[in-house]
Amino acid sequence: MQTEAVGDVIVVGAGFAGLVAARELTRRGHDVVVLEGRDRVGGRSHTTTIAGVPVDLGATFVGPTQTAVLKLAAELGCDTVPTYCRGKNLIDWHGRVRSYRSTIPKLSLIELFDVSRIQWRFERLAKLIPVTDPWAAPAAERLDRRSLDSWLRSVHANASTRNLMAIMSRVTWGCEPDAVSMLHAVRYVKAAGGLGPMLDVEGGAQQDRFPAGTQQIAVRMAEDLTVRLNTVVRRIIGDGTGYRVESDTESWEARAVIVAIPPAHRGAITFEPALPDDHRALIAHWPQGNLSKAYAAYDKPFWRADGCSGEALSDEGPVFITFDVSPGDDGPGVLLGFADSRSFDPLPPQQRRDRALRNFAALFGEAAATPIDYLDHCWGTEEFAPGGPTAAVPPGAWTDYGHALRAPVDGVFWACTETADEWTGFLDGAVRSGQRAATEVTGYLTS
Ligand SMILES: Cc1cc2nc3c(=O)[nH]c(=O)nc-3n(C[C@H](O)[C@H](O)[C@H](O)COP(=O)(O)OP(=O)(O)OC[C@H]3O[C@@H](n4cnc5c(N)ncnc54)[C@H](O)[C@@H]3O)c2cc1C
Repeated sequence: MQTEAVGDVIVVGAGFAGLVAARELTRRGHDVVVLEGRDRVGGRSHTTTIAGVPVDLGATFVGPTQTAVLKLAAELGCDTVPTYCRGKNLIDWHGRVRSYRSTIPKLSLIELFDVSRIQWRFERLAKLIPVTDPWAAPAAERLDRRSLDSWLRSVHANASTRNLMAIMSRVTWGCEPDAVSMLHAVRYVKAAGGLGPMLDVEGGAQQDRFPAGTQQIAVRMAEDLTVRLNTVVRRIIGDGTGYRVESDTESWEARAVIVAIPPAHRGAITFEPALPDDHRALIAHWPQGNLSKAYAAYDKPFWRADGCSGEALSDEGPVFITFDVSPGDDGPGVLLGFADSRSFDPLPPQQRRDRALRNFAALFGEAAATPIDYLDHCWGTEEFAPGGPTAAVPPGAWTDYGHALRAPVDGVFWACTETADEWTGFLDGAVRSGQRAATEVTGYLTS
């Protein structure tokens, strides 16, 4: 096996976190190599095209308070456009399609009151939880022992509120409310600045998008770095003075390592000496959620002529949220649908297409059933490093193992959006985690 001496730092993973860490360290004069298992950079940011229009299979949107990723994108010359949100939003609920404006759909007065009540109670709990060390709060144990679903039932949330929170859970963590810890839910939303900033289009995390896609940001970062693609890291071996990082065929040596991959994927790497028990337990209890996407392209965004924004919610599924990501009024028109992985991913491709188009047609009319182009992507069924959008942290995991999430182990440091305190789960959190890990490594190398 051929060994290359890198010098200072080996970064595992060329997602936003790993690339940002490598960029910062290179700027500070360190020698760095990035090892990436896939044949591309970007990780959960992957841009392709439909009807000639760039679209994102993973991360798409960006919001005004996501200042770390916005600053990075601006430095790299990657522009944003506002997400189209003019006109009526639609909701397909119990087989009936109705229209509404803003984030919360048109519900009965009693239903609306219940949504506001639950939002208020949720945000009040967030005040009790510190984002940095949530396990340390007096309320932590109580919140972490129950799921979001069990909390909703304990405060007598009505069926509509529970359905809306289930939609939030699917799109945010890629899991049902009974699979996510209430402590995680509260801390995650707080790290995004609240329910409004996380869920809204105008003023929120869906306000803008990158017309050329998000992956261009990663590609431009990589242009100035040493990145080795198709290089799956299998082993990280420390000898007390430095590290050897091995793929199947090659190895690299350096003084420190940043592992910039989600906690669940750390488990595919053998560490020698073995990681401490709490780190290993964390890996086993921090699973990735699963979320899928379907895109359909049409000659024109015909729903705009009907006064529709293209934004919709559905309790029918598998597509449960839609957005209009068309480049303009004159075509092509592009609808994006988030699909529930549980009912979508097991279907053969033709059935996935049929089901998604049926959902689009139920919302926007029969014209939506005959697109000029269609594509979908299931993150949960990827062969390598599957899952996303982010970790679906189950009850008990934060209080039992949260302290090990990003605690360095000698010269091994941890990055990825799951380790961020601000906008964790988003591109912005990935950028911040890369910056934090780079600072930790600089301190380690110069101490
Ligand atoms: C469907 C979907 C929609 C999303 N929508 C949005 C959105 O609109 N806005 C937003 O801000 N965020 C969104 N996200 C979340 C966003 O994509 C992630 O937060 C972000 O990309 C995570 O970056 P990361 O660098 O932390 O991790 P990753 O992107 O997962 O990068 C980790 C990298 O490590 C590599 N790797 C793993 N194991 C190894 C190994 N052993 N050896 C070598 N390489 C390895 C992986 O291939 C990957 O490239 C979405 C995600 C998904 C899946």
